[in-house]
Amino acid sequence: MIALASEEARLYLQQVPDRPVRHQADRERLLSVLGGSLATSGAAPEQIVRQLADTAHWGNVACNSPRYFGFVIGGAYPVSLAADWLVSTWDQNAGIYAISPMVSVIEEVAAGWLLDLFGLPNDAGVGFVTGCQMANFTCLAAARHGVLRRIGVDVETEGLAGSPRIHVVTSAESHVTIDIALRYLGFGTRHVHRVAADAQGRMQPDALAAMLETLSGPIIVCAQAGNVNTGSFDPLAEIAALTNAKGAWLHVDGAFGLWAQANPELRHLSRGIELADSWSTDAHKWLNVPYDCGVAIVRHANDHRAAMMSTAAYLVQTAGKERDPTDWGPEFSRRARSVPVYATLASLGRSGVAALIERSCARARQFAGVLAESPGVDILNDVVLNQVLVRFDQDDARTRAVIAAVQQEGTCWLGGTVWHGLAAMRISVSNWATSEADVARSAEAILRCHRMLSASQSG
Ligand SMILES: *Cc1c(COP(=O)(O)O)cnc(C)c1O
Repeated sequence: MIALASEEARLYLQQVPDRPVRHQADRERLLSVLGGSLATSGAAPEQIVRQLADTAHWGNVACNSPRYFGFVIGGAYPVSLAADWLVSTWDQNAGIYAISPMVSVIEEVAAGWLLDLFGLPNDAGVGFVTGCQMANFTCLAAARHGVLRRIGVDVETEGLAGSPRIHVVTSAESHVTIDIALRYLGFGTRHVHRVAADAQGRMQPDALAAMLETLSGPIIVCAQAGNVNTGSFDPLAEIAALTNAKGAWLHVDGAFGLWAQANPELRHLSRGIELADSWSTDAHKWLNVPYDCGVAIVRHANDHRAAMMSTAAYLVQTAGKERDPTDWGPEFSRRARSVPVYATLASLGRSGVAALIERSCARARQFAGVLAESPGVDILNDVVLNQVLVRFDQDDARTRAVIAAVQQEGTCWLGGTVWHGLAAMRISVSNWATSEADVARSAEAILRCHRMLSASQSG
């Protein structure tokens, strides 16, 4: 069975770079193959594995293709995929040291490596969670605990109902998962203070300063490294100076932007990020480990642990240096998702990670350079990282039509967005395997679709 799965996986990966990137099947077709009522007696395991594998060739969007530029989606390095298979094979419950000493130690080491790469305090708390959504949740839970602890209130027993009001400040350009985390944590969204952002989506420090002047009591400020549309960074050094002076907790959502810290040439973008109180990021985006893996990092490890930790009589909890992973994230039982992170970092080394990040940025600049040379094509953002926003003929409908045509054509896949009222094509280069040739071929396809639509319009 393992050999069958391995052979099918090899075939799948072999075909990904050459197949159309887009989806090739609709719900009805997928249901006709996969659906029906549950049989009374089951089928042979080999038959099921074969059917899944066969269906995936046309049923899956090839989002690990080197020419997939939608959302912010990484691929998977062979070493990270192999490590992930071992994780499933071992079937370890990574919750506590007593169940899985090896995984606990791997997490401890991987956490240390990440703090080192990101230039963050080596005694910060680190939790491996499902993605940046849960990393934001975990960090903001720690923030909620921390700002109330400082005024003598234990929110874990009082809840928000029994606590003084916490003011939460975000940017007008915060990622939607910040709002979702705030909902999960009982803050709601109506009472969040929103600070204006500039044309690139960066929080404006003057506006933040004016906002903070009006607030008193416990305050949490959410800033961002890597805007999901433009890739821009909030001016973190200035923001940190303001939040520190006010005694506020500064959280930075760095789902992909935190990785700028792993390349000395790019650290100017995230300057001051190390002054924050908590940071969230993803490994399944730019580090190219398989889904799912995000990372929550908190300067004040005690606040982090207090917000997440559980105790029960039957648990065997460590009293020594050993790490109980469940203390650092919302889950109780969970997958050993830190193992692919460990394997990928060990395989790339410091210079390999730096090269991965710079390579994606270079490919984004390549995209912007080639596209901008073509008449009627505008790049809407400063391409500082791996994100490119493109607009065609200064027209919303034309831009949307080009996006749809590119998606249908199948050479590459990318999505659309609305940037400050303007429809735009969104390109994100996050896959380790994307080559210069992939970008050249994709840019050609995009321009071909644009020319075709322009010609049909004027003809
Ligand atoms: C992708 C993203 C998130 C959410 O991350 P998930 O891994 O999808 O949970 C949060 N913030 C930013 C800026 C992102 O780009």
